[in-house]
Amino acid sequence: MNPTATQSREQTISALQQGERFLLVTHEHPDGDALGSLLSMSLILRALGKDVVSFIAADDLPLSYEYDWLDVSDIVSEIPRDADERVVVFLDCGNTERSPLVDAAAAPEHLLNIDHHHDNTRFGSIDYVLEDASSTAEIVWDLANGLGVALTPEIAEALYLGLITDTGRFMYPNATPRSHAMATELLAVGIDGNLIFRRVYENLPEAKLHLFARALTVAERYLDGRLTLSVLSNDDFEQCGAPASYTEGIVDFLRAVDGTRVAALIRETTDESGQSYRVSMRSSDGEIDVSMIARAGGGGGHPAAAGFKSELGRDDLIALLCEQISEQS
Ligand code: 5GP
Ligand code: MN
Repeated sequence: MNPTATQSREQTISALQQGERFLLVTHEHPDGDALGSLLSMSLILRALGKDVVSFIAADDLPLSYEYDWLDVSDIVSEIPRDADERVVVFLDCGNTERSPLVDAAAAPEHLLNIDHHHDNTRFGSIDYVLEDASSTAEIVWDLANGLGVALTPEIAEALYLGLITDTGRFMYPNATPRSHAMATELLAVGIDGNLIFRRVYENLPEAKLHLFARALTVAERYLDGRLTLSVLSNDDFEQCGAPASYTEGIVDFLRAVDGTRVAALIRETTDESGQSYRVSMRSSDGEIDVSMIARAGGGGGHPAAAGFKSELGRDDLIALLCEQISEQS
């Protein structure tokens, strides 16, 4: 770890020790790492006797089937009245726009920003952002050690969830010896790793199978195959009986196609602001930084996994991706 990060580690630990009341939040549409780091941090702080409230927006509940085994009975969907008196801890959240809790972030003297996104906007009073960490869960695991909190099976399960999802089951280059050491420690607590894998990856609703079939059928190649993408329309979702969250994993499938440097899933979405597209990208060999493409489209993410939402039409979007990829390769 670099010296700045080491200094922040001490500051972070001391802020967690000194705070009495906490409000924990993560990004919208929380994934495994968002949920794992949120739940584990809550349990860790409670083990220290703290008053902890964790927030997930009502729109994001109930959790998608992959995560429906998690105990979210304590999670609130209303911002507590005393939010401005609490230490607000953002976990796995690259910027405050990705969280519905923007107002609570107005008091930056009480804002702890714990994350691993390299494009984190450093919006906290303490920004503990470790770009080399595989997951926010990996940072929380280290903080638990620093705080002297023993890992219970519940804490270890939540941390393991964050670790396996953000490393693509230890497949991505972010799975370092440290990530594997973390897994060793978590499994030694006695959790059932195989059960967690099965719950997350082998519990597919049939509608998801149909949605995958659709996405693979409509897959197209551009730039001599360097870009592999699928576009899913609102009609596709309707006909398959699948919600948007069932797209999870499709882009990883596209990335595996021979010759692909960038894989993209473009899905139509309709919300209060009207019709638009959500683009989810993955880089296959790490040569192309998809977070640069996402930023060009108004989003962000990691070099190997990034996304954005766009008002552009389908063809303009594909043209934008082709142009951006050509610039980088
Ligand atoms: P996914 O493709 O799984 O939705 O997202 C992959 C990564 O891209 C996430 O870890 C997240 O960091 C980032 N990401 C996706 N969409 C957006 C977005 O609209 N804005 C920002 N800042 N990051 C995004
Ligand atoms: Mn993460």
